[in-house]
Amino acid sequence: MLLLHQTNAMPRKSHPWGAPPWTVDFRPVPRALPDHVDFAIVGGGFTGLSAAAWLCRLAPGQSVLLLESAALGEGASGRTGGLALAETAAGPLPGLGDVLAGYKKILRALRIDSRLALPGVFELGRSAPAKNSPISWSDSGELQVVRIVPGGVIDPGKVLAGLARAAEKTGAQIAERAHVYAIDFSNPLCLQIRHKFRGRIHRKEIRAGQILLATNAFSLELAGLRVAAAPKLTFALATEPLSAAQLKAIGLSSRRPFYSIDLPYLWGRLLDSNGVVFGAGLVPLPASLNALFRNPASGGSHKNASLNLRRFDVRKGEAAVRLRWLEARVRNLHLALHSVRISHRWAGPILFTEGMRPIFHRHPRSKNVIVLAGYNGHGVALSVYLGQWAAQALLARRPLPRW
Ligand SMILES: Cc1cc2nc3c(=O)[nH]c(=O)nc-3n(C[C@H](O)[C@H](O)[C@H](O)COP(=O)(O)OP(=O)(O)OC[C@H]3O[C@@H](n4cnc5c(N)ncnc54)[C@H](O)[C@@H]3O)c2cc1C
Repeated sequence: MLLLHQTNAMPRKSHPWGAPPWTVDFRPVPRALPDHVDFAIVGGGFTGLSAAAWLCRLAPGQSVLLLESAALGEGASGRTGGLALAETAAGPLPGLGDVLAGYKKILRALRIDSRLALPGVFELGRSAPAKNSPISWSDSGELQVVRIVPGGVIDPGKVLAGLARAAEKTGAQIAERAHVYAIDFSNPLCLQIRHKFRGRIHRKEIRAGQILLATNAFSLELAGLRVAAAPKLTFALATEPLSAAQLKAIGLSSRRPFYSIDLPYLWGRLLDSNGVVFGAGLVPLPASLNALFRNPASGGSHKNASLNLRRFDVRKGEAAVRLRWLEARVRNLHLALHSVRISHRWAGPILFTEGMRPIFHRHPRSKNVIVLAGYNGHGVALSVYLGQWAAQALLARRPLPRW
């Protein structure tokens, strides 16, 4: 029975945000929730899973419970493009260290088959191209390679499954369909949870010594981020496998992923199958990235914004329009892509923060609660790397950064 749970691929029913090409080949062992834990982690994406795995490794005697509203990877981590990038969206930050080297080390230490490849990443631009750019695409001007920067790709489904397996194997309890709807910030902390278990909804209160909130673009009220961060939905699609000749024609034979450094933004990567993923677009559409934070003190503009993200459906309305816009751009990039079949269309949440800096601090209502979120679309390597740091901080082995 145990084996069955651990090896079954996660079934993906039709989701309003569409289906990415990744498979999360792991289901946690379903268990009733405990009354008390040393550490509760809220959020089953890269951040929460990395923190859970490291807490168990660093403090084997302590109890660790990870609570996920839906299924592991339901948020950005299961819907990401999987480009492993250096530093943060705001560049290097004081005390950050080498994110890519740290990421590689973590994946190795936890024995995760991540399919990590680090051939470098093409930065594309519409001006000042490098000599002999292999890419020449038509997209609001001529998009060409400007430079190559450190980085590469992973398989997000494999990283999610690998982190979860590592956490569970070393003693963490992982609960899916366990939504934390309130936290009592008194001492001891108390989480209020709605848990779907054995076909029924159970309400449960759990006392916790410390909590990590790794909820990214959701539950902004709980994390105290309603004013400080702006959630958006972003879009991606994958093409059918391309031939070697097509890949050569579009300049991707080196298998390097890419992103543009000017607007309109475009990013992408190859799949193992030789399909190509392209991504771009945000809803709700901001007038500009600066406009996201024009008047953060007023707070009004982001009210209920995370709830709103769940209302978008990639088959309808504004979200469908953005996806069609992305598809039209992709077909127009190069003749070799003009009639390509699209195999996957999907969306996922991004949390934007002021100055593009990740949020990594103690919750204003309790020093026993840490909030870690807001990678601004740059969190594949960073989330796992900072998840380890969060575990060290919860164990008082490392101070939090001052970003
Ligand atoms: C389409 C797309 C492409 C991207 N591409 C890249 C890329 O190529 N490179 C890169 O570096 N970054 C990329 N990113 C960003 C990157 O994927 C994220 O920064 C990263 O996955 C964030 O991980 P996380 O664990 O912090 O958040 P998430 O993966 O979003 O996890 C948060 C989890 O918390 C759960 N949750 C929320 N509230 C509650 C609650 N109250 N109770 C219980 N559970 C709760 C959610 O269900 C969710 O599963 C992309 C993002 C998207 C959407």
